[in-house]
Amino acid sequence: MTGVLALVGPGRAGTVLALGFIEQGWRVSRVAGRSVDAVSVRDASLLLGAEVSDVAQVGVGADVVIIATPDDAVETVAVQIGSSLEPDALVLHCSGARGLGAFRELQAARADVRVGAMHPLVSLPNVLTGIDRIPGAWCAIAGDPQVESIATALGMHPFRVDDAERSRYHAAASIAANHLVGLLAQVQRIAASADVPFEAFLPLVRSAVDNVAELGPRAALTGPIARGDTGTVSRHLAALPDAERDTYISLGRETLRLSGRTDPVLEAMLGIPETLSDGEAPGPVVVVETIAELRAACEAARGTGASIGLVPTMGYLHEGHRTLMRAARAHHDLVVLTIFVNPLQFGPNEDLSRYPRDLSGDLDAATAEGVDIVFAPSVDEMYREPALTTVHVAEVTEGLCGAQRPGHFDGVTTVVTKLFSIVGPSTAYFGRKDAQQLAAVTRMARDLNLPVTVVGCPLVREADGLAMSSRNAYLSPEQRAQALALSRALVMAAGEIEVGERDAAAVRHTLGRVLDAEPGLEIEYAEVCDADTLAPIAALDGRVLVAIAARIGTTRLIDNMTVVVEGAHARCDLGVRTSS
Ligand code: AMP
Repeated sequence: MTGVLALVGPGRAGTVLALGFIEQGWRVSRVAGRSVDAVSVRDASLLLGAEVSDVAQVGVGADVVIIATPDDAVETVAVQIGSSLEPDALVLHCSGARGLGAFRELQAARADVRVGAMHPLVSLPNVLTGIDRIPGAWCAIAGDPQVESIATALGMHPFRVDDAERSRYHAAASIAANHLVGLLAQVQRIAASADVPFEAFLPLVRSAVDNVAELGPRAALTGPIARGDTGTVSRHLAALPDAERDTYISLGRETLRLSGRTDPVLEAMLGIPETLSDGEAPGPVVVVETIAELRAACEAARGTGASIGLVPTMGYLHEGHRTLMRAARAHHDLVVLTIFVNPLQFGPNEDLSRYPRDLSGDLDAATAEGVDIVFAPSVDEMYREPALTTVHVAEVTEGLCGAQRPGHFDGVTTVVTKLFSIVGPSTAYFGRKDAQQLAAVTRMARDLNLPVTVVGCPLVREADGLAMSSRNAYLSPEQRAQALALSRALVMAAGEIEVGERDAAAVRHTLGRVLDAEPGLEIEYAEVCDADTLAPIAALDGRVLVAIAARIGTTRLIDNMTVVVEGAHARCDLGVRTSS
């Protein structure tokens, strides 16, 4: 099978694959990059015998178009090339992290083209070595059946990865390629500190990898942890520099688990809690309903030197809340989760009475995450008398949601102040999903010298990109699909920012365009602002918050991303996606 190929993104991967196509008798018609003048584009055009093309024209006359850009640009490029594609053309991307979801917009516009993904699972340090490494490499594929024939024709071993498993696949690849390198850097540091040559360890590494390939990980495991040699492990721990010990301990736990050995002494050395060592579930959480009890429990814990991690929520817990609990559990001796649907932060026509609640499910989640205390007070307990005192944070609460929901943030900062006062010195974990809330609470703790450190945690998304929220439970299946426009708008904006867009008005325009394309959705705001003050900005520079609020029916949804712009470089943080 031969034909005409076009390439967007002539980096190492794209160029190597295009050369593989040429070897199979294909012709490369056009090559496009960030700009038609880029050296890499001109070099690639000479090497591949192809015409330099504008991205928007690259598909003309091509049977197959390869998008080999950085992961975050794939979606934008796919849309940009859309109108140039020939009917029935096959568009492929080479991203390991992105699945076919990256082509959703393209497919909405061009139902007559085919899509696929092809990610060679091999490192390509440069074009010359790359050409040798492609034949024989494993290759993750998705989409149209022709992708499989192409991968096979290039000499690779294809295997299919569905979008639902994509992030886990890519995490495994990162562990294999990147964490392993990080680990070898640790070997190098420790070897240097003991004045022994790093090179001496490399044959050991190679033979360990060969043994795993031959025998599987469990049978290939050797060494003191697998043997249950506690004396040696304790001497390692004592001898290691402080900075190296955490990695040794966490991989030591993994090693012990793999060995299948039950050894209380090793478990204690490697910090495995006793209750978990023999496969038991963690103990039930203590549920506290009064302020006095919670205050007393926190004071008693601090009296024994324990540190406290606090996770304030309104309950109906999902994975976003659970990451906060996990962060608190990882860093503190006592973890307090609060569940309180705070009337003060709901407006008169808002959803207070129907806000979803499920205390028993929440207690199961808290138990599974190892929370020690759940504070679930009644409204009467929290507000014995009507509150005459409220806490107001000026400026950062005025725009965005503050403008749409008068009084909302005063309700939030007042209840959070009460919780901080009851729990006392602690670290409180908040999600970046509610970016304005996080900014207000951070500023409040600073301005009022509250003895609480506020920590922001990543925004957690469903596998398809929707930001997790207790309010997603309100959405009908149809609305649930419409709601994806929010994350789609952010992804589109991210694509543009990462390829150089710095004009805030243009980014707002992109957000509006994607959101407006979804008829069931009513925009409340689509804003580009300074990440600390939350004031709207004209040009993207430094830390920027791109935030959206929209209504679908009676449900109000928010979403955002943080962008860090340093000159020509921009990094967009859309948070994390769950894998299924
Ligand atoms: P709520 O129960 O909605 O008041 O949220 C309680 C805490 O969980 C807040 O700090 C939120 O920012 C955080 N949270 C809610 N949804 C998410 C999410 N999708 N990702 C990360 N954090 C979240």
